[in-house]
This record gives sequence, C-alpha cells and structure tokens, in this order.
Amino acid sequence: MNLLDASATTIRSEIVAGRVSAVDVCGAVLERIASANTALNAFNLVDGDRALDRARQIDAQRAAGTPLGPLAGVPVALKDNMDVRGMRTTASSRILEHFVPPYDATVVRRLEAAGAIIVGKTNCDEFAMGSSNENSAFGPVRNPWALDRIPGGSSGGSAAAVAARCVPLALGSDTGGSIRQPAACCGVVGLKPSYGRVSRYGLLAFASSLDQIGPLTRSVADAAVTLSVLAGADPCDATTANEPVPDFAAALTGSVQGIRIGVPRAFVTEGVEDQVRAAYDAALETLRGAGATLVDIDLPHAKYAVPVYYLVCTAEASSNLARYDGVKYGYRSAAARDSLKEMYSRTRDEGFGPEVKRRIMLGTYVLSAGYYDAFYLKALQVRTLLRRDYDQAFERVDVVAMPTTPTPPFRLGEKTSDPLQMYLGDIFTVSANLAGLPGISVPCGFSSEGLPIGFQLMGRMFDEATLLRVADAYERATAWHTRAPGGPEGPALRP
Ligand code: GLN
Repeated sequence: MNLLDASATTIRSEIVAGRVSAVDVCGAVLERIASANTALNAFNLVDGDRALDRARQIDAQRAAGTPLGPLAGVPVALKDNMDVRGMRTTASSRILEHFVPPYDATVVRRLEAAGAIIVGKTNCDEFAMGSSNENSAFGPVRNPWALDRIPGGSSGGSAAAVAARCVPLALGSDTGGSIRQPAACCGVVGLKPSYGRVSRYGLLAFASSLDQIGPLTRSVADAAVTLSVLAGADPCDATTANEPVPDFAAALTGSVQGIRIGVPRAFVTEGVEDQVRAAYDAALETLRGAGATLVDIDLPHAKYAVPVYYLVCTAEASSNLARYDGVKYGYRSAAARDSLKEMYSRTRDEGFGPEVKRRIMLGTYVLSAGYYDAFYLKALQVRTLLRRDYDQAFERVDVVAMPTTPTPPFRLGEKTSDPLQMYLGDIFTVSANLAGLPGISVPCGFSSEGLPIGFQLMGRMFDEATLLRVADAYERATAWHTRAPGGPEGPALRP
C-alpha cells in the first residue's frame, strides 16, 4: 500500500491492525511535505517534532490495548486561521505573523481526542478573504495540477496539500465557498457543514453569520467520518446547534434510489464555461442513471447572491477585524509614537494587506449612518428572500446540484487587478452560506488542459447525511477522485 495515497479511513485501519505504525505514517507525510512544499507553498508552518510525539503516543496506546479513536494516527493539516495552543496562527497576515495562541480551537480538541495528528498550518488568503489564495501575505499557493494556476481560495493550502498527497485530511473554513472552491480547483472533496454544526471557537472570525469549518479529503467517506468527529454543540460557541450528530459514515449506503435532485437550470447559465457546463450535465446524468430523479427548480433570488454576500461579509468583517489594533494581538507599528490614534492607524496600515483593507473600508461604509438602510439592511432583506427560495425548493427536492465554480482554475495573476471579476467567481458557493445550508464539492471531471472541475451539491439544513449519501453514490459511480496530479507515479511538482 502506498501510504501517501491512502485515505484517512485506510490509514486508521492499517494502524489499528498493526500493519503500519503511526510514526511511519507521520514520517512519510513529513518527508512528502518537505519535498513538495517548495513548489506548492501550501504550508505556513510544519511542526514535525510535535506530530511525531503524538504519533508515538498513538503507537503506545495501541501497544497497551487502549481503544483507538476514529482518526487514530491520521495526519491532518489545519488552515492557518484555527488556533492550536503554542503553535503560530497567522491567518496569512502580517498583523498576526508572530501570534501564538494560548488555547486550542474546539475542532483541534476534537480531532486530537479522535487520535488525529496535527502536522502543521496551511497557507490561505489573508483572513480567509479571497477565492484564489493570491491574497496571502506569504505568497500564493500553487495548484498541484499546474503550478501556474490558482489552487482556489481561501483554503487553498489545505486543498493543495490533500491533492498533492501531503496529507489525507485537512480542515478549511468556508464563509462564501472557501472549502468548496479550492476543493473543486484541486480535484478533492470539500464539505461545508450547516451553520451551527461545527464550533468556531478558536477560528479567527471573518463574517460570523457565515463562517463554518469543514474537511477537505480525497473521498466522501473520509469527509463523513471527519464530520462526525467535528460536529456537535459546544458551550464555548453559542451559535452551535443542539442537533444530534449521527454517524455520517453509516449513512453512505451507495444508493440514490428515490432521491430527488433539484436542478436550477436558469441560474446555471451565464458565465459558466462550456467545459464546466458539460461536466455538470454529465454528473447529473450519472446520478439519474444511478436511480435519482432530476427536478427543475427555480431560485429567483440567486442572481443577487454575490452582491448580498459582499455587503454582509464586509460589514461583519469590518467589525470582527476591529480587534487587531496593535494593543491586544500581534503586530504593532514601531513608527507611531505620538498618539494612540496614530498607533492604531499605522499598525493597521502596515499589518493588513490590500484586500483586507478594501473589505474593512467597504464594510465600514455600508454600516455607516445614512447607508445602513440602503445597503446593509437591504442585503439582509434579500438574504431572507434567498433563504425562502431554498426552503421552497427543498419542499420538492432532497438536494440541489450546481457547478462549484464557473470556470476551471485560472492562471495566477489573471484576475488580481479586477476584484469584481474575482467576486463573480463565487456565484455558486455563497448562497449556501447566506442560507446556512450544507454544501459539498466532489471532483466531476477535467478540462481539456487537465485541470480539475468540481460538482456541488447542497442539502437541507442539518441533513448532511443525505448530502453525503448522494455525493458518495456519485463518487462510487465515477473514478475522477482516484486521479492524482502528475499521473499514477505521483505528482510532478517541480516547475
Ligand atoms: N471568496 C469568498 C470571499 O472572498 C469566500 C471566502 C471564504 O469562504 N472564506 O469572501
């Protein structure tokens, strides 16, 4: 067995069976990261010593006959906006470049309680603001399928690391698509759970009514196992729901008999590249062939999702990022000595990158007196209408299908000078966040240039079980997820 190609589920069962040790797995992963990361720039930090220590503990537990958790010995990478005690969290921003958190995020506690081994932190767009990973203060992540292409954002490092066989599992955060988009661009699985499913305690807040944490994996089954580990109410995050957490892996029956799939034909038109459209149509046919029924649906307000999202997320970001003021966290400008106000403003000017500043300014503007009603309040009203569109659709269907991104991954630098163009690429992902619904992206084909294309399914609130079941049935009927960048010999990562 090639350890680096193995799924999280397989790694765990090989360790439990004693056919491989957690230390061997960890060592192979650390070697792979060391050789691949120069080309990819997917990791901001790797802590090999800590990871090997944990791996030794797992091996000792096995030797002692202690029952092992559902992710025992599985190496995991975390997007660098989640806190691990004693390990730097930078959010890929200069303002937090040296910030060492004093506590663990709830997802970190849950992963480690399940036996997972955190190997490091992945590069991302600064404060998770972006769709291409070009907004990182530490340089862009490169797509393992083509190093001149974006890996998608903002969890691009996590997606690239999973695609390039550096780790079988990584966590990302998704405010408007940041798990699903990079999953699509890198040819892996990315799951955004329902709002309230997974605790955000220890996740650096971007837009609190939209943010969710979720897994990036190479199979739907791995995403299901990981969601069962991460999900559940948390006293440290009052927005978590008291919903029971099912065994999501047990929901993967392989059958879509009787499943009704909503197809918003009128919405999936403009700006969608032909090859993406063709892959989407083929994926729908595959599901129909497997026994699902396709149902045309209407989402009349979906066309407003991008403007609504960029009003809501910038408003919330402007408030959430007010805490980075040179006093409480991270960087403080050395240049400002004369007044407190100058210290604040110099610190924020030197610490934040251009996209973060753009959003703070836009968000401050839409919340200011005189503009609040015209922009922010209006956006909230349309958000409600959009949510109603989905409520109505879900009276008739079990899942809704869309492309994940309108195009395959574009070239680095291609859209950086045109933020609006960049924002429009979020058209298919932001509505899941605005409506609070779970969404998943699975690989569904490749462009003529060999670049991955993603297929997105959205589910009812808290019905990740059905969502995962359909995604898994699709995966069983196709082989896209088995391809690795660079072919069967393994990724060729040198430019
Ligand atoms: N691309 C979206 C944005 O730039 C979504 C980011 C995210 O989900 N974190 O805001």
